[in-house]
Amino acid sequence: MKRVVSQLSVLGGLALVGVGSAVYAAGRVGGVGGEPWYDAGPLTVSIRPEARAGLTKALGVEHLEDLTLYDLDLAYDPSAATFTLAEDVWFTNTTSAPLPDLVFRVYANAAPPDSGPQVRFVSGWCVDDSGCAIAPAGPSAIHLTPSAPIPVGGRVHAKLSLTGALTHIDPSRTNFMAQSMEGMKSVLGGSGGPAGGDYGLLATGDGIASFANFYAVLARRDGGVWETREASKLGDLGSDVMASFRARLDLPAAAKLAVTGSVTSDTTTPAGHREVKVAAAAIRDFALLFGDGLEVASRDMHGVRVRSYYLAADRAAGTKVLDVAAHALEDFERRFGQYPYAEYGVSEAAIVGGAGGVEFSGLVTAASMFYRPMASGGGGGHGGGNDAMAALMAQLGGLGGGMTDGMLEFVVAHETAHQWWHGLVGSDSRDHPYVDEALAQYSSIVYLEDRYGPARAEKDGNANVKMNYQSMRAMGQPDAPADGPVASYAASVQYAGIIYGKAPYFYRAMRKEIGDAAFFSALKAYVARYRFAVAPARGVVDFFAASGGQAKVRPLEAHWLDEMHGDEDLGTLDLAAMLGGLMGTQGAAGLGGLGGAEGMGDLEQVMKMLQSAGGNFPGGAGAGAAPGPGDLDVQQLMKMFGGTSP
Ligand SMILES: [Zn+2]
Repeated sequence: MKRVVSQLSVLGGLALVGVGSAVYAAGRVGGVGGEPWYDAGPLTVSIRPEARAGLTKALGVEHLEDLTLYDLDLAYDPSAATFTLAEDVWFTNTTSAPLPDLVFRVYANAAPPDSGPQVRFVSGWCVDDSGCAIAPAGPSAIHLTPSAPIPVGGRVHAKLSLTGALTHIDPSRTNFMAQSMEGMKSVLGGSGGPAGGDYGLLATGDGIASFANFYAVLARRDGGVWETREASKLGDLGSDVMASFRARLDLPAAAKLAVTGSVTSDTTTPAGHREVKVAAAAIRDFALLFGDGLEVASRDMHGVRVRSYYLAADRAAGTKVLDVAAHALEDFERRFGQYPYAEYGVSEAAIVGGAGGVEFSGLVTAASMFYRPMASGGGGGHGGGNDAMAALMAQLGGLGGGMTDGMLEFVVAHETAHQWWHGLVGSDSRDHPYVDEALAQYSSIVYLEDRYGPARAEKDGNANVKMNYQSMRAMGQPDAPADGPVASYAASVQYAGIIYGKAPYFYRAMRKEIGDAAFFSALKAYVARYRFAVAPARGVVDFFAASGGQAKVRPLEAHWLDEMHGDEDLGTLDLAAMLGGLMGTQGAAGLGGLGGAEGMGDLEQVMKMLQSAGGNFPGGAGAGAAPGPGDLDVQQLMKMFGGTSP
């Protein structure tokens, strides 16, 4: 997954007024008024030298400086887990019409934790536009109204001041059992589950501080209109548009840092803080994680520095993550085309709320629960859950760490695949998640096949992908076309089932139909055509048709993307097979540990409970109502049953 929004409570809002003249139309690389515009040259250090040629053309701009620059000055106070952010936005109107206003979003406030919005607007003003007004417009939106519409090619340099606080994720929540139990409790109607969409993206947990969605970013535009709220909080929120970033980070002295882009300077301030400067050209979002206890292992992949960040206690898993990340990056580069950035990092993170990992450009995270043996007792003891379920989970947990190992590899490969699907090649992840999420899922299967052979790919695909669909059906949720907007799915269980479970098999069916050569050459051509851009909804299908033939591709497109044949294509839930896939070679022994048939009985009982819970899904099956906070979190449930929705 990627990111996630709601009703804002109170944004302290002062709209300060700047000084100077009106919004001006830019000359070549000129700035606003007499002020020089920013220089993008030094930022390209984050791009691989061989990927720099043709960059502006691919981005669809005349100059790299036409890309919006977010210049972030972030100071973190570890004693209070709060931060201040001075943000400069350098915006050029590259649309084809004058813009009467700009809307920024702070996506951390779009899906806030139970404690409320985390980021507060303090002030904002425009350099050289005395009539410009900047004010909050809802919990997650900030509205900028210039004194006159911004002409085509016109530029605005705005300054925003924000403050924020990180939530704290209790260590008892970041293990597999605890996350599974949280998911179960919310499915079964219990309280205490996490609010929908709160993944711990702006939080501290396990000694790691995570900063994502913490700054103001230009809102998505839909049909020429700025989006100020979300139709659904499911799935990825955030921007699909390429931008550049420059950052100055004021961090604790001993912090080890994982960050998007490239570090250009790393010094100690007179006050003993660590000051890190970062440059990142042409990325879709900016994020950082840091912690005193993080360790790093690194490796070179064809000139790309690949790093894995992990807690010392999770070194074995962290070392494996480096190996998986490097191999997946190499495999996808060969299959899909060149990876564009000089660095690639995977960091362990205290992710909660049902996500297995989160992707940013050049940096991804994987949930710490996958780095550890499954059983560790935490979370399950919070009470209020179902006793039979708790006992069953405890027994399953006793089976050992083999299960989380396979999931970790799958998640890391999935997040790495996002470097192409949604990272390098943008797509509308709100209206057409079948493109990026399902391609990432299928790419993970391709990685497993390329590395270990088809048998392993099939088996892990069944457990991590197909299970999402089959469990959804077992819970009484209906099939749906694979190409639907996130908001069209009745509940997170259906979203996970269709997008993470069924849609990936569209790509497998396509490969089978048109053959390996046509399939992979189409993906390469698709990447070459849309690198650094945003592809149309059916762009990838058009490339399949161009290489594999319309007659073969269009019927398959209709069958999977527009019609519903999930049950016939993917089959229905087979509990024994599910347990086998879940536990791998330990399956037989595992069943013994569960008390054989008795264990199966427990599981069947669980499925029955889920089915009855299915009738109580918010909005009901197919009612189309947007799920709200506290809705069932099926992605966690999927994890429990062996699937993941990273
Ligand atoms: Zn994903």
